[in-house]
Amino acid sequence: MNTTRDVVAIPGDGIGPEVMDATRQVLDAAGAPLTWHEHQAGVAALANGDPVLPDRTVDAIRECRVALKGPCTTPVGKGFSSVNVQLRKALDLYAAVRPVRSLAGVKTRFDNVDLVIIRENTEGLYSGVENVVTPGTVMSMKVATERACERISAWAFDYTRKRNRKGLTVFHKANIMKLTDGLFIRKSAEVAAENPDIPYNEVIIDAGCMRMVQDPSQFDVLLLENLYGDVVSDLCAGLVGGLGVVPGANIGEREAVFEAVHGSAPDIAGKDIANPLALIMSSVMMLNYLADQEGLDAMRTAADRIKQAYNACLESGKKTRDLGGMLSTTEFTAALIDTITAA
Ligand code: ATP
Repeated sequence: MNTTRDVVAIPGDGIGPEVMDATRQVLDAAGAPLTWHEHQAGVAALANGDPVLPDRTVDAIRECRVALKGPCTTPVGKGFSSVNVQLRKALDLYAAVRPVRSLAGVKTRFDNVDLVIIRENTEGLYSGVENVVTPGTVMSMKVATERACERISAWAFDYTRKRNRKGLTVFHKANIMKLTDGLFIRKSAEVAAENPDIPYNEVIIDAGCMRMVQDPSQFDVLLLENLYGDVVSDLCAGLVGGLGVVPGANIGEREAVFEAVHGSAPDIAGKDIANPLALIMSSVMMLNYLADQEGLDAMRTAADRIKQAYNACLESGKKTRDLGGMLSTTEFTAALIDTITAA
């Protein structure tokens, strides 16, 4: 097969360009039939004299419908609104999906973590509406709409069924935020009633976090509003080895943008020590998405090769420092490519 699939690459900034470069090398080695269209966002776009989210970046994603994205920093305190939030809103990428799994070869307190976090991506406290009420008093607006609460619940139940997962739990704080979180769980419960075959639970988020760190195996698919999803994603990353091993996808009706859960990690940028695995795993999610949506079997084959290679590398102790290994970004990438080519 000679045809390739056009996809957008947004390297981002901080460790973004390093982990994107590693990921593209690994995808090439695995024979993923992709043609890349590189575009910028965040400080990399500003450096070109463009806005943080240039129209041509968004247009390119609309055209290709699929993008792989590195972390993008939004400059603090200069009136810029978050690139990630703008992009999710521009394309209405309402469902963030983050699989969190124990990996053989990465030792943590638990070896049986297998969770999927589904985060509502478009509203909650990410409405971006903050006001000075009176001098010394500020306010941030939490938004919940029936439409967004219902569609994320429907999406989450659909995902749970299609993936044969065991059940779905909503983390919330509806005992305090009676209207906003109240609406979120009311809509989830309504969708749950339409899907009686899927076990459904509602757990107050503080108790849920305690139970999570005691025994993560009691949860399966988690459904959360925007901010809780952000916080609980990092909490769960900590159960399986950290931010270096948690991938993600932001999915809308038409477009999907795949990106790691971690940010631009400026403290380690340019040092050749970042773990590229989270973006590599995100690219595997992208390949499987293309295989599912468009029946592209070559994507599935490449995804399987990459997955086998990183499992083999980790199990034989070839890992970056964040996972207790000794390898640099480039050494780990080379080890992955050697394993893929040797297979
Ligand atoms: P954001 O708010 O943009 O999501 P953050 O404050 O959560 O960012 P990150 O940039 O995600 O911060 O990372 C937090 C820390 O975790 C980093 O400073 C870095 O030390 C570590 N870290 C994150 N990603 C990686 C990675 N891929 N490899 C190694 N260490 C990482």
